[in-house]
Amino acid sequence: GKNEGRDRFVLYDELIHSDRREQLIVGSLRKAMTDYKEFNLVYQPKIALATGKVEQAEVLIRWNHPKLGFISPAEFIPIAEKYSLIHRLTEWVLKETVHQMELWKKEDHFIRQVSVNLSAMHFRSESHNSMIKEIVHHSLERGGELHLQLEITETSVMENLERALMMLGELKQLSLTIALDDFGTGLSSLTHLKHLPIDILKIDKSFIDEVPHDERGTAITEMIIQLAKSLGIAVVAEGVETLEQHEFLKRLGCDYGQGYYYSRPMNVKDLDQQTIERTVR
Ligand code: C2E
Ligand code: CA
Ligand code: CA
Ligand code: CA
Repeated sequence: GKNEGRDRFVLYDELIHSDRREQLIVGSLRKAMTDYKEFNLVYQPKIALATGKVEQAEVLIRWNHPKLGFISPAEFIPIAEKYSLIHRLTEWVLKETVHQMELWKKEDHFIRQVSVNLSAMHFRSESHNSMIKEIVHHSLERGGELHLQLEITETSVMENLERALMMLGELKQLSLTIALDDFGTGLSSLTHLKHLPIDILKIDKSFIDEVPHDERGTAITEMIIQLAKSLGIAVVAEGVETLEQHEFLKRLGCDYGQGYYYSRPMNVKDLDQQTIERTVR
């Protein structure tokens, strides 16, 4: 038709643009990863639905570029993976998180367990575990237990199940707990689930979005909660945004809720000021 030429041109232009942006980001990322000053960490509370208590949080990375401004991890994490920068970035996140947890422990802070996202690349090589081992051992040498959790995805585990199981076994020996993130979206068959050393399942936001009005999403959510219960695994609903969702999930016996309804991810200072209002009924 009449517009084909123009559409093609727009597409071509966007491709160039996205490639340029990728190059810009990878260059900036390399530079930012010399002193890590442009990065910081935010923490999003997980609420125990039966009690309203907050003792856990997920840590999420933030990057504020001096010229480009805030760049979403959804954009730069895949680029860090593609250009083999992710391992060092994860190392920084883990070290910072462990340091923060040590400070919190000293002051008897309400957050006692933090989960860190592991990249889908993590299970590609056995050697990737040694960085985690070192960080955990150093922290233990400095005294006390460490309630660190790792969030992994089904897809990364299923890529090479045998190697992932071996690596997960090593991580469990360090007393780390494992959460299966974005559950329901990946390739995993439910039959594999009982063989994985998983402590917690996180129901993906795309299902929670449909609760309680859409039948399909609601049925899947109910099924995942029942499945987790029958396997003795705790379950988190992610992306809870409304009171209605909160009440529904609580009624179903979902163990934890995480999402904007309770709290946005916050820096350490804002998180502390939240303590007064943190009880959810
Ligand atoms: P994720 O692990 O599934 O993290 C949840 C994302 O949902 C976060 O986005 C969080 O801010 C957002 N979120 C939480 N509650 C709500 C809600 O109620 N509504 C909506 N609309 N969103 C909500 P964020 O921080 O932009 O991170 C996006 C993704 O980037 C993460 O998805 C994770 O895959 C990745 N990521 C973030 N930080 C790290 C990190 O330190 N390391 C690695 N490897 N990946 C990270
Ligand atoms: Ca996560
Ligand atoms: Ca998730
Ligand atoms: Ca997600």
